[in-house]
Amino acid sequence: MSTAGVPDGTSDDLISLRARYVHERVKRLRVDGNAQFREPTGALARFVDDPWAPPATDRPPVRAHHHVVIVGGGLGGLVVAAALRDVGITDVQIVDRASDFGGTWYWNRYPGAMCDTESLVYLPLLETTGYVPSQRYVDGEEIRLHLLGIAELLGLRERALLRTAVTGAEWDATGSRWIVRTDHGDDLAGQFLVIANGPLSKPKLPGIPGIEEFAGHAFHTSRWDYGYTGGGIHGGLDRLGDQRVGVIGTGATAVQCIPHLAEASGHLHVFQRTPAAVDVRANGPLDPAAVRTAEPGWQRARMRNYSAIIAGEDEPVDLVADGWTEMFREVSIAALARARGLARETTADERANLLAAADLRTMDRIRARVASSIDAPDTVAALQPWYGRWCKRPCFHDEYLSVFNRPNVTLVDTDGRGVDRITRTGVIVGARSFELDCLVFATGFEVGTAYTSRTGFEVHGLDGRSLGGTWADGLRTFHGLQIHGFPNCFVLGANQTGVTPNYTFMATEQARHIAYIVGAVMARGHCVVEATADAEQRWVDEIVRRAAGGSPYAETCTPSFLNGEGRPNDPVGLLASTFGGGPIEFSDLLEAWRAEGSLSGLDLR
Ligand code: NDP
Repeated sequence: MSTAGVPDGTSDDLISLRARYVHERVKRLRVDGNAQFREPTGALARFVDDPWAPPATDRPPVRAHHHVVIVGGGLGGLVVAAALRDVGITDVQIVDRASDFGGTWYWNRYPGAMCDTESLVYLPLLETTGYVPSQRYVDGEEIRLHLLGIAELLGLRERALLRTAVTGAEWDATGSRWIVRTDHGDDLAGQFLVIANGPLSKPKLPGIPGIEEFAGHAFHTSRWDYGYTGGGIHGGLDRLGDQRVGVIGTGATAVQCIPHLAEASGHLHVFQRTPAAVDVRANGPLDPAAVRTAEPGWQRARMRNYSAIIAGEDEPVDLVADGWTEMFREVSIAALARARGLARETTADERANLLAAADLRTMDRIRARVASSIDAPDTVAALQPWYGRWCKRPCFHDEYLSVFNRPNVTLVDTDGRGVDRITRTGVIVGARSFELDCLVFATGFEVGTAYTSRTGFEVHGLDGRSLGGTWADGLRTFHGLQIHGFPNCFVLGANQTGVTPNYTFMATEQARHIAYIVGAVMARGHCVVEATADAEQRWVDEIVRRAAGGSPYAETCTPSFLNGEGRPNDPVGLLASTFGGGPIEFSDLLEAWRAEGSLSGLDLR
């Protein structure tokens, strides 16, 4: 502790805790990193079959030309379509492999699926639609229906080719347009192309030996098989009463579906590699009047406030005030108070130490919550997480922990190793083998792999260059949205942009920017816009200079998809390829660029 009362990072508590964290991290580091996972292809391709699609009906191939082709009818694609409409562009064509709008919320309908982020900042376009969410945190079905409502409101249904997978996109320099091809033989021309495939859209499976051999029933959480389990998104899995069910994974998805599996299964085995850090949910009603009478612009202001606080910025008020903002709020207030006491601003080091101390307190409280929720001491020990709060995605749930007191639930803790083998009849961990009828993979989604692996199609720009090849050694973008050599193409997501846990905020800010550029290019009588090589290089330099990947915090983190499975400096990993200034500086920077008006860094033809 420094003399001024600001922790200096050398307290015994912090030092011994960091040592424990590093010990747990090292246990889990694997030489194969991200390559430990398997793509759902070949014998595993059935894991990505669409359980929600109605019976297939043939349709003739479509040949059409539109101003903008948008790949993805999820939250991202919808906010892009809305932003384009705001600048007068309605001639859009949406293409999505799903049979309806909704993206993540189309696919993820597992029992208990809900959004951990407050509905007022997560549900897009609340001011446009006038929709008032039913609760602070709403379930997946409510979100999906809200997204369908947006699609209807914008008249997008007749502008969508659903159940249609894009197979490739190619820049036609002669016609100054993109040609987008699909698995239905469609030939879609678009002056502009927006790829909004979502940051977590392709399910991944663990590369556990024997995974193809399992002869029981198996599925990924994002393709829940209610035909087998019975019930629906609100639970009631009434066909599992005599079943021995296993679930592999204990991340944010598992935390939500395990309580329902536990309630319904004859016996449930939870195979755990790393325990989730599960804080209080405390869901509750919203005051509809407060939303209806709020000043125009309230949702963006609330989103900005929420993301600013989580980015560690000082905000005068915490509008959302929940488990996500709590730790930062405390630090923010403390930092300000201490700064006042010190009669100076806290330094970056002091601030980092304040955050570390708050992180420690938060995780101590989460570990204490495990102890107070669980009866058996060995289960308590196995469920206590030993890593920093932001090493993995924070979880919030009020029923998850007590599930492990049930007689029909067995926690199989693998102490960081993971499941050793899957056989015809079950799962092997060390010397123990578990016979199962059903195996649920709650093992997440591809992150930090080749971009075109996640989109599922290649993009060919000027002179036939491929996006996969262009990004093989790391991302290269201008403002995270445009790529030199790929005119009139925009990529939405977390590729060298600011990131925040509230994807809706970032997607909406990016959509606004894309719409501005498309509108400006057309208004100025041009057909083609391309990021210059210089502008792109300057942005790449900025990303590298301020990369958040290799921070001391990340170096003590247990592996997760957030830190490239323990490789935070991996140039294609999530943290290394985001804007280090955070989401607010990013959005301000884009806003200032638009206000300046010269479209600097872009070549217009
Ligand atoms: P995650 O990638 O977060 O979790 C995957 C789980 O599988 C981890 O527990 C991992 O263990 C485990 N696992 C992987 N391989 C093995 C193995 N070989 N043996 C045993 N266990 C293994 O996926 P989720 O689907 O849980 O979450 C993905 C993301 O989806 C979240 O981070 C979040 O962004 C989003 N989400 C959002 C929600 C919301 O409320 N908005 C709700 C749910 C998900 P280990 O931890 O050791 O790697």
